[in-house]
Amino acid sequence: MRAIRVREFGPPEVMRLEEVPTPLPGPGQLLVRVRAAGVNPVDTYIRSGTYARKPALPYTPGSDAAGIVESVGGEAGGFSPGDRVYASATLSGSYAEFTLCEPSRVHPLPGAVSFAQGAALGVPYVTAWRALHQKARAVPGETVLVHGASGGVGVAAVQIARAAGLRVTGTAGTPEGIALALREGAHHALDHRDPSHLERAMAVTGGRGFDVVLEMLANVNLAGDLKVLATGGRVVVIGSRGRVEIDPRDAMARDGSILGMLQGNMTEADRAAIHAGLRAGLENGSLRPVVSRELPLASAAESHAAVMAPGAGGKIVLVP
Ligand code: NAP
Repeated sequence: MRAIRVREFGPPEVMRLEEVPTPLPGPGQLLVRVRAAGVNPVDTYIRSGTYARKPALPYTPGSDAAGIVESVGGEAGGFSPGDRVYASATLSGSYAEFTLCEPSRVHPLPGAVSFAQGAALGVPYVTAWRALHQKARAVPGETVLVHGASGGVGVAAVQIARAAGLRVTGTAGTPEGIALALREGAHHALDHRDPSHLERAMAVTGGRGFDVVLEMLANVNLAGDLKVLATGGRVVVIGSRGRVEIDPRDAMARDGSILGMLQGNMTEADRAAIHAGLRAGLENGSLRPVVSRELPLASAAESHAAVMAPGAGGKIVLVP
């Protein structure tokens, strides 16, 4: 099969398309024919060699995929060849024609959801659901600021929050991103490149502040987020690419909380609850992943440059 291989950590160009043996599923494993693989920022951190978790070289990048079950090794969670599925983690990497998976990380893909959309679920939708429901414990009627609403996680967060009955404000860095946030369910959308955008966000809440902030770039925004919290508000730090100075009094004054999260820390029960919630949302149409670009596997380097560039517009996927 064809697969992207990384033989040394470094810039996007270290990803090369190679011919490698197709893996065989061992007992209790699934082999999935990949129809689309999700490209996530964390894939670029791992490839660059700067991430805390480093795979053994050489490796095939990618955790998210959607496709069709090709073969199963014995009892494999009730899946059968031909099933449409998405994977939220793989054993052999998703930037490939086939990927090996544990059944606990494979989930049925409803018929109305395309493979490209399915490849947007594993990291982005699970993260957004985890942040809003399991970390912030948002309830209907609350207000949420999705600080970075135009990317993979942000679009998911807007849809999940809107479906849950929250008042949603999103931010983006381009007019297209702002239009996307509004189209996907935000009641208001603002430009996070505008230095006064948090004042304008505060005005949207009538000066009360937000019950929840889902933060995609905490090293830039955390100090400001604390100032726009309502009493008892929660900031969930989803993304951060550096250090930041905050004034703890801003949290004290509002009984505010800063909640960190990393997907890898979830329990199996957390995961099962999230995928059940996602399935319901996919089936009733409230969750509709937005795919901005579909690139061939050979363009993996281009996809990594694109996912780190400003001007997000949903999810970037690779198509083998
Ligand atoms: P993405 O698709 O590349 O989107 C990045 C988002 O950040 C875009 O909406 C972008 O908006 C926005 N952004 C850029 N500058 C910003 C600013 N100054 N203030 C607020 N937002 C800004 O990435 P993603 O998949 O959504 O992931 C978002 C972040 O969460 C990444 O850092 C990722 O590593 C992290 N993450 C963490 C976890 C976890 O477990 N904690 C899981 C998934 C992702 P524009 O492009 O419109 O400017």
